[in-house]
Amino acid sequence: ATLSNISIELPVPNHDEVQIKNFIGGNWYDPISNNYIDNINPSTDTLICKIPDSGPQDVDFATSAAKAAFPAWSSLPPKTRASYMHKLADLLDKNNETFAQFETMDQGKTLNFARNVDISRSAYNFRYFADYIEANLSEFAASSSYPTAMIGSDGNPIMSEALSYTKRSAVGVAGLISPWNLPLYLLTWKIAPCVAAGNTCVCKPSEFTSVTAMMLTRLIKQAGIPDGVINIVFGLGQSTGNSIVTHKDIPLISFTGGTVTGKAIASAAAPMFKHLSLELGGKNPGLVFADCDLDLAIATSVKSSFQNQGEICLTASRLYVERPIFDTFVARLKEATRKTVIVGDPTNPNTFYGPLVSKQHYNKVVSYIKLAQESGYDVEFCVDQAVSPHVSEIGESGQLVIKGLEKGYFVAPTVITGCPQDSRVVQEEIFGPVVVVLPFDTEEQAIELANGNQYGLAATVWSGDQRRLRRVAGQILSGTVWCNCWMVRNLDMPFGGFKASGVGTEGGKYSIDFFSKKQAIVLG
Ligand code: NAD
Repeated sequence: ATLSNISIELPVPNHDEVQIKNFIGGNWYDPISNNYIDNINPSTDTLICKIPDSGPQDVDFATSAAKAAFPAWSSLPPKTRASYMHKLADLLDKNNETFAQFETMDQGKTLNFARNVDISRSAYNFRYFADYIEANLSEFAASSSYPTAMIGSDGNPIMSEALSYTKRSAVGVAGLISPWNLPLYLLTWKIAPCVAAGNTCVCKPSEFTSVTAMMLTRLIKQAGIPDGVINIVFGLGQSTGNSIVTHKDIPLISFTGGTVTGKAIASAAAPMFKHLSLELGGKNPGLVFADCDLDLAIATSVKSSFQNQGEICLTASRLYVERPIFDTFVARLKEATRKTVIVGDPTNPNTFYGPLVSKQHYNKVVSYIKLAQESGYDVEFCVDQAVSPHVSEIGESGQLVIKGLEKGYFVAPTVITGCPQDSRVVQEEIFGPVVVVLPFDTEEQAIELANGNQYGLAATVWSGDQRRLRRVAGQILSGTVWCNCWMVRNLDMPFGGFKASGVGTEGGKYSIDFFSKKQAIVLG
């Protein structure tokens, strides 16, 4: 399948546009190098399109456009900026189906997930931050009066009245860099607060999933958003991404991606004193106590382990289960997975998850499964060919062959037990459909095991005891703790990682805070 196979209306690239172009200052440009990178459909291992291999000059061009657009955009009343964002949200909703089809083709996620999560949430991101900025106008012009302490010429403190107020304003050009697992959703989660607060931006989606970002450029134009406010430059992390991170005219960087990349970005940006928001990896624990609602815990654990191919930074990929129910839990989790997790064509409405995003990621996930097998852990592929008749072969390390999609990067839902806490499969982020399950004996031990990892992004706790939930949740070192639920998001809440899972906080006022500079002005 190629872009031209799908019946499309604007905003999708037309048939000639199998080469995506950079979007700079409201126009579309080839990269200066004229080099392109292949973008592959993970279901079929065939070319979808080519994306620009942009370099420092393209980023510089985009930054100049963003800089030129900044004074006018940042001076607009927030209400006017919000109205543009509402238009963009409406256009995204109108084009949900087309965007979802391309997100599925590009990323491998199911069409159902793309429609109902990725694309609809992308529209909602714009609407949410548009409403936020309208409703919080006063914060941007707040003033207050209080006494100020000063030391008099006699050395004694004197009290003096002054009017102090906080002037919040946009910072300038932001660099926004996003990963491949929730392509448009995570990119718009950055663009929306950035432009709502009056900044302009240079964005770079992942080189593995650039198509919907390019489609968004069409809608940006249709919504009438002034040229240069949102610029999108495509390419690789080491070149395009690094050029954004180190550009002298980009004072703030918002990045979502892996912890290793986050380290590289932090060390490149720190000497330039840039403002950084880093949303990084996770290896999220789920604690299952014997007094929980086991049916709900199992049904949700199937989703928190395998939804979106396990390619969600918030997956509960390390489950710790209280010993009296350990065997039952593992047996029931495997059984529920076999019955419900149908792996295959992501466009089929019955499919639970599709292929992994890329050949390279597929190899990485399979290598972890091999490692677990070689280490002698108990590795089970939870596929029942009676339920999933289109699975024609299950490879030795969980590689699945799907009828009609023989070249796709499919991996079986995999449950690993019998592995020690310090093993690599328990400690490292696999980011695929692989869950490890270990027993625990006491509440203290459960907390210790949950915290015994470099990451601290999210956790889940399952228990029927409300006091225990609060007690345990408060001791887990992670930015979000879900109790008797998973992935329930309130966008006003702080979202961010502890420890190696990141620096900074996103969500509602936290995002707006990051994207604005706060100046104290004191009138004596
Ligand atoms: P990645 O770090 O490889 O890439 C993320 C983005 O950074 C891509 O656009 C990439 O091109 C770019 N990049 C790579 N090297 C760069 C460099 N040196 N300078 C600037 N940019 C660079 O991550 P990925 O593989 O695309 O995504 C998976 C990771 O993202 C997982 O670790 C996952 O947990 C994490 N993630 C975190 C969150 C969160 O909210 N904390 C959300 C989603 C994904």
